[in-house]
Amino acid sequence: MQAYRGECHCGNISYTLDWPLDALVLRRCGCTFCSKQGVIYTGHPRAVLSVTVKDPAAVSRYAFETHTAECHFCSRCGIYTYAISTIDGRDYAVVNVNTLHDVAAPEPVKVLSFEGETTPERLARRGRSWIASVTVAAAPS
Ligand SMILES: [Zn+2]
Repeated sequence: MQAYRGECHCGNISYTLDWPLDALVLRRCGCTFCSKQGVIYTGHPRAVLSVTVKDPAAVSRYAFETHTAECHFCSRCGIYTYAISTIDGRDYAVVNVNTLHDVAAPEPVKVLSFEGETTPERLARRGRSWIASVTVAAAPS
């Protein structure tokens, strides 16, 4: 496991990502939201994501279209940090690579189109490719 650390700009949302492979798997989603964000994702079912939030009231969530994933933003600095999809009671996540420390995504990252996917197909794909071990906790005060 390789350990990566990341955070939003102001540090309200921080996380560690324990990564099971040699290199990060980078993905770009072609939907209008992800294109506007310019977000590059990473995720793997054997990765472990541990998120710490200093001020949970300063986290905003955005869901759209199928409402099967929530994008988590720091509402203080506006940075989109990760998304969570809850499948059969379990949280799966992908992380915004731009919020990792010391990682610059090489260009170009392939843009994936998930258009035409049914909701069950979408959830099955996330179960295969998103981070399957996710904890989000409040920071000790
Ligand atoms: Zn922030």
